Parts: sequence; C-alpha cells; structure tokens
Amino acid sequence: MDSRVESTTGLHARPVAYIFSEDLVKVSTSTYESIISSRLPSNRNRSLLVYSLVHAYGLLATCTGQESQRFLVVRPRPAGQKELLAYHTRDYLEYVMNQSSDAQNLLEASEFGLEDDCPMFHGIKDYITLVAGATLTGAATIRNNISDIAICWDGGRHHAKKARASGFCYVADCVLAILFLKRTIPSTHPLKKPRVMYLDLDLHFSDAVSQAFHKPGSTTAAQVLTLSIHHAAPGFFPLSPLASLPDVDDPAFDPFTLSVPLKAGASNKTFLRIWPIVEHVKDIFRPDFIIVQCGLDGLAGDPMATFNWSLGGEGSLGWCIHRIIHEWQGKKMLLGGGGYNMSNAARAWTYLTSVAGGIPLSLDADIPEYSGYLRFKPSFTLDVPAGNMQDQNTEEYFQAIEATYEGILSVLDSRMVPPTL
Ligand SMILES: [Zn+2]
Repeated sequence: MDSRVESTTGLHARPVAYIFSEDLVKVSTSTYESIISSRLPSNRNRSLLVYSLVHAYGLLATCTGQESQRFLVVRPRPAGQKELLAYHTRDYLEYVMNQSSDAQNLLEASEFGLEDDCPMFHGIKDYITLVAGATLTGAATIRNNISDIAICWDGGRHHAKKARASGFCYVADCVLAILFLKRTIPSTHPLKKPRVMYLDLDLHFSDAVSQAFHKPGSTTAAQVLTLSIHHAAPGFFPLSPLASLPDVDDPAFDPFTLSVPLKAGASNKTFLRIWPIVEHVKDIFRPDFIIVQCGLDGLAGDPMATFNWSLGGEGSLGWCIHRIIHEWQGKKMLLGGGGYNMSNAARAWTYLTSVAGGIPLSLDADIPEYSGYLRFKPSFTLDVPAGNMQDQNTEEYFQAIEATYEGILSVLDSRMVPPTL
C-alpha cells in the first residue's frame, strides 16, 4: 500500500534543505548517551531514530521522476568560534569548549549552568559546534536562495543563554540563526534589513530566545519578533516574567516579544482557537524569514504529560506546520526542540518532513518494516493521537487571551507603520 497521499499544494520551486550528517547524529546520540544517558533524557538515540524513520520512508531518496527534487540533503559544517561569539560570551565558550569533565572546576561549572540537567560530557565541544553549525547551515540555505524551506531537527535549543547552559540546552542555535538571518542583505537596493519571526511551539517557554531580543519599553519597529506558545503555571520551567500573557500597560512591554501561555491539557481545539492570533501577528509583522521551533513535548504521550496535543487533525501540530509551510509568505526553517517520547519524536518529525516536502504521509498507514520497526509498537502507524486528559483552557480563558491580544496587535500594527515625513 502506498503510504503517501497526494499533496494538494503542488511542488515547491526549490527542494527542501534537510540538514543531516552522520557526525551530527553521532554526537547527538551515542556519544551523548553513553556518558549521561540517565541524566539527560532529551537526546537518547532520538536523532538516529528520527533519521532512520525518515530514511525508511524513502523521503530523502534521490530518484528520477517527480519526487526526485523534493529534498536536498545538506551536510552541515561545524560552527567556528567567531560564529559562536556572535551571541555566546568568550568566558562561557572557553570554559565549555576546553574543560574536560574530570578536570572541571565545580564553582565555575555552576556559574555557567553546567550542572544538574546540563552536566559537562565527553564530546561537548563537537556537540556545540555541530548543532550550531547545523542550524546556521540551514539558515544559510534559505538566506542564499538555495532553498525556501530548511529542516534541522537537531536544532531548536531554546533555553541556552549567552553565558549559561539551561534545560538540556548548551548552545543557542536559535538565537545565532536569528542574528544571522537579520543581517542586512548587501546586494539589495535599497539595503534590505530582513524581518525574522521566531515561533516556538515547544511545551516550554522559549526563555532564552525571547530574552535575547526583548527590548523593554521599546517604541520603534524591531527586526525580530518572537512568539512562544507554551504551558505556564507556578513553578513550571522556565520561570520568566516574559512567559505570562503580555500586558500592554507594563512599562517593559515590547510588542515584538510575545507569549501565549496555555493551561494544562491544551488540545487541538485550543490550538485551533488561538491560531488566528498567531496568523494575525504574522500578517502584521510580514516576516521575510520564519523560524519554527517544533518541540514535541506538548504532544500526547510525552513523559511531560502536560498537554494533549495531536499530530493530525484540525488544530494539530501537523495542521499548524502545514499552514505555515504552504500558506505563509516568507522562507521557513523548521527546528527541533523538546520531545522525550523517542518513538513519537521520530513519528512527528518524519511526518512534518513529509508535510514540508509537499508529500504528506498518511498517519494511518503502517510504518515500513525496517530495523527500527519494533520501536513503533503497538500501533505501528505514524499517528500520535490525543489521550484522555481534560483540556483546562476554558472559554473564559480564551476570551481573556483574545481581549489582551486585541490591544497587543493594535500596538504592533502602529509600530509597523513607517513614520510619515
Ligand atoms: Zn520543552
């Protein structure tokens, strides 16, 4: 049975850039796992499982015929010191790139956040340069017109700060990519300063990315807009004043740093309800580049067990990505992020890869038999269906979000209007 269903959106002019290398998989899985598998659940064999499933479906295969040019596999290069210094501090990089785990100074390690869920590990230098390099390689493919869409599932480390590792994140690849994409394009006349929208769909608030571009009390238009849709509740990681619903009357309010906090149990219905706000923000901002952090820890079946989001159906993650890829103007890059049910991560990112390529796989068809097949029991399908959790986002809460965003969108709109002479 052919598990692909025909796209209704037609072919892309340019193939989708899929960022992949064996080195990246190795550093994201085996090296990582062998040292800290019990303490760092985020990457255990995930990268390998994602790639193997994408490969099992033959999505990246080059063959003759109509589908031969859907994807372009791009081998990333490691990021250089200068590229990392575009955001990270020299002190942090020197420490994290030069210390071995047995010789580390515990006091300094703590200062740089290298403890608890972010311990030092063998191979950390390669990990940092390869993950940053992969995301920057993806960004370069869309900036240099090699592709209109790039995919880098190893990226999306949205908690890493300038001088601090946090929440399983050691390198701020999202921030580095935004800084790279917002650079003025020299060949344009008048010189073009691209607008970059960062949309974060991870269960957790994109604290480090939002903070990096937050301009408290700004009164002008910004080149970068961040919008995070996430769970927020007292004590829920990460703690940040920016994770709340923005308040236009707050002196620190910045209409380019936006949040939609959701309550537990958020489902397709909730995402469908708030999605017009997301598209309204996009329509006002008119981004040239859109980076989407596709964290999967909000999907049903994730050990975080907080949201009840699905992969398919109206309002699902797949539905959101389909809209972004096929209906939004601008060039896009899809990044990874959280997601601690490894099989579901492979399912979801494989499906999103097919959506980006304009050849969405059927969620109900059997997964092809290959060496990793048994990881997908008992359903042996791609689908990540909703569970039984109750959605605590009420009609009253939706109305509060909508009323707040009415004010936010009005301020955003006024900032985007060019000043009259
Ligand atoms: Zn997360």
